Amino acid sequence: MDQDTMRRREAQCIQEQPPFCQAACPIHVDARGMISAIRAQDFSTAFSIYNRTVPFPGIISRVCDHPCQKECKRQEAGSAIEIRLLEQAVAQYAGNSRRKIKKLPAKNKRMAVVGAGLSGLTAAFDLALKGYGVVLFEAGECLGGRLWGIGDGILSPEILLADVQAVVDAGVQVQLRTAIGEAGISLSSLCDEFDAVYIGIGPERAVNAAMGLELNSSGCIRVDSSTLAASIDKVFAGGGLRCPDGQYSPIQSVADGRSAAISIDRFLQGASLSAGRETEQTFTTKLYTNMEGHIPAYAVRPQSQNLYSLEEAVVEARRCIQCECMECVKKCEYLAHYGAYPKRYVREIHNNDSIVMGMRHANKMINSCSLCGLCETICPGRLNMGDVCLEARRSLVIKGKMPPSAHDFALRDMEFSNSEAFALTRHQPGYAASAYLFYPGCQLSASAPEHVEKLYAYLRERLPGGVGLMLGCCGAPAYWAGREDLSHLTQDSFAANWLAAGKPTVLTACPTCYRLLKDTITEVSIETIWTVLAQLGLPAGIQGTDTHQPLAIIDPCSAREETLLQETVRNIVKTKGFPIEETVLNRELAGCCGYGGLVSVANAEVAEKVAHKRAAESPHDYVSYCAMCRDIYAAQGKRSLHLLDLVFAADLEQAASRQGPSYSDRHENRARLKTKLLRELWQEKVPEGQEKLAVIIPPEVALLMESRMILAEDVQSVIEFAESTGKKLCDPKAGRFVAHYQPVSVTYWVEYGVDGSVFTVHNAYSHRMEIVGDVKR
Ligand code: SF4
Ligand code: SF4
Ligand code: SF4
Repeated sequence: MDQDTMRRREAQCIQEQPPFCQAACPIHVDARGMISAIRAQDFSTAFSIYNRTVPFPGIISRVCDHPCQKECKRQEAGSAIEIRLLEQAVAQYAGNSRRKIKKLPAKNKRMAVVGAGLSGLTAAFDLALKGYGVVLFEAGECLGGRLWGIGDGILSPEILLADVQAVVDAGVQVQLRTAIGEAGISLSSLCDEFDAVYIGIGPERAVNAAMGLELNSSGCIRVDSSTLAASIDKVFAGGGLRCPDGQYSPIQSVADGRSAAISIDRFLQGASLSAGRETEQTFTTKLYTNMEGHIPAYAVRPQSQNLYSLEEAVVEARRCIQCECMECVKKCEYLAHYGAYPKRYVREIHNNDSIVMGMRHANKMINSCSLCGLCETICPGRLNMGDVCLEARRSLVIKGKMPPSAHDFALRDMEFSNSEAFALTRHQPGYAASAYLFYPGCQLSASAPEHVEKLYAYLRERLPGGVGLMLGCCGAPAYWAGREDLSHLTQDSFAANWLAAGKPTVLTACPTCYRLLKDTITEVSIETIWTVLAQLGLPAGIQGTDTHQPLAIIDPCSAREETLLQETVRNIVKTKGFPIEETVLNRELAGCCGYGGLVSVANAEVAEKVAHKRAAESPHDYVSYCAMCRDIYAAQGKRSLHLLDLVFAADLEQAASRQGPSYSDRHENRARLKTKLLRELWQEKVPEGQEKLAVIIPPEVALLMESRMILAEDVQSVIEFAESTGKKLCDPKAGRFVAHYQPVSVTYWVEYGVDGSVFTVHNAYSHRMEIVGDVKR
């Protein structure tokens, strides 16, 4: 992922956009953060968050016209949060913990600020903090301008004076009773004496002070709305003079003073006045916040004199929904597992990918995504973390940095399925051509080989022109592992067999095969067995009854975009007499069971979390048309059926409570299916397998092996290797041997005992290191 792609993807995730209140606030008070602290009854932190942005907390918290509240998301479920009242409570209860004045080193430049209202005070204060020498001219008797007219009931003189003292403490030189304009100092003499001038006075006085500055149609000083630059070089103006029609906004005046200070600083440093200021004042946030599930709640009214008590403030703060997006994280256990959100993950994955040498810490994270793409469907910015992770996996593979342990097991499973042990392509017995080619897939053949046989028989009976059979794996494991080389080889091999079979229409039973083959071998005409069965009608004699309990449908993630397939499947369930329940992550939100993307191989913990959560989506029995989904939910203790169970199973009770086969049995079932079909259907002679050593694996060891993804055939290989080479360690006390064998990249260790010609396994484990040198007897 190059830098540009990373930035584009980061920008797709709007989780870090400010909440609606903060974007609407002209100075962007972090109201959400402040309210979060109030919720935790931490008024001191709440105040420091507030004071970080607000120069005069005592004043502003009392006089702010709170434009933030007009945009508060809470209005969609109740009324806006009383942000201004909460700020006042914070200033009241924690106002003695004002932030310390920290100034930048002094600069050799002097500013004149005209007017000691909120805008002039803010500009003077901010410029002083930036290290400039500031002289503040005020025509009146004291600092504060029109704030003195607000009234004691709202803003007491004590609070006002305490706040404006900050300006003096910051080192601003104050000149009271000094008018600027016709009645006092001329603007041109200020320009001569100072490096920049800010005029922050009300509209009435502004006209008098204009003195050569251009006026707008309302008769006020004309300024650039973003930079506040007036028509004379080095002069800036803002505050009350920008709202001549009586719509004075105290917080807008503060924002103008702040913007002017930024402009003046840029002006004196020769930087662009206008660049990158789009979000400096009020703007519309891109944040998305889902209001679903928020029960309407209305503002707390303060019992006494427009001031919340501590308790009232906490109750009001708890109404805040702490606006954020996190839509994908709420739905995806993988994203939730790593404790952040895609914008952060994209950066982490990019950094991981950019490392030339040394450790890559995000590999496990990259390999723990199902690659299901649900996040893209949910995300307002359409960010697909699956794409990000798949790309990163491919890059790790190409750079030789993909740990072999990550996908070794699944790739070997695929290799088995595409080996002589299982792979097969044949025309229907008695036919020299195939109009159709049934492709059951490796997982259905592993989980329910009897259904494959029955379905193939039914298709042969009902479809004209010959129905060939192709057994094998579609290459999904290689695709998910980022192994493009293997992926292409598998597709090429599929395409060659399909061509040799005369380009028949492929009928897939597995939705992942369907999607992968459709997407990667575009010339293949392909259908699912479900749409074909819907056209043919279900096998006779097992049509539905109307006495069944509802079944909760599980759409596999690979079928998310297949609306016809989803509908067809539901019709089949209904035809069989079952009422349908929908699960949470279904249809256009179809989610993964934890198998997709090889998560279960790379990160069993995440896979378990996914399966566990999904198994709890409905109290009803599940029915899925993906064999892995069915087996995974069954392993969670969830009664689950495969849709073919509804068609072919003699005993649905038994089918719903059946556990899926172990990894070893999956191999066994595939191999047996092939042998059986070759012998019974094609009347071919299949040689018996080589005689194997008699190996006993007790149930507790078999369970251990399953959790460690060790196959019976791996154990068999180790013992055979040890016994044929003598490379084994002997523990004479326990009367056992320990031996290892490395078929490809994983080394398997087996602890076993021997009784005559029978070998009993006591333990088995594996690791990814190579043993160099011989192990001596
Ligand atoms: S859905 Fe996820 S990726 Fe998209 S904006 Fe929200 S948090 Fe970011
Ligand atoms: S609900 Fe809270 S975070 Fe959201 S806009 Fe309102 S005050 Fe801000
Ligand atoms: S598991 Fe699916 S929803 Fe979650 S991040 Fe990966 S692709 Fe997106």
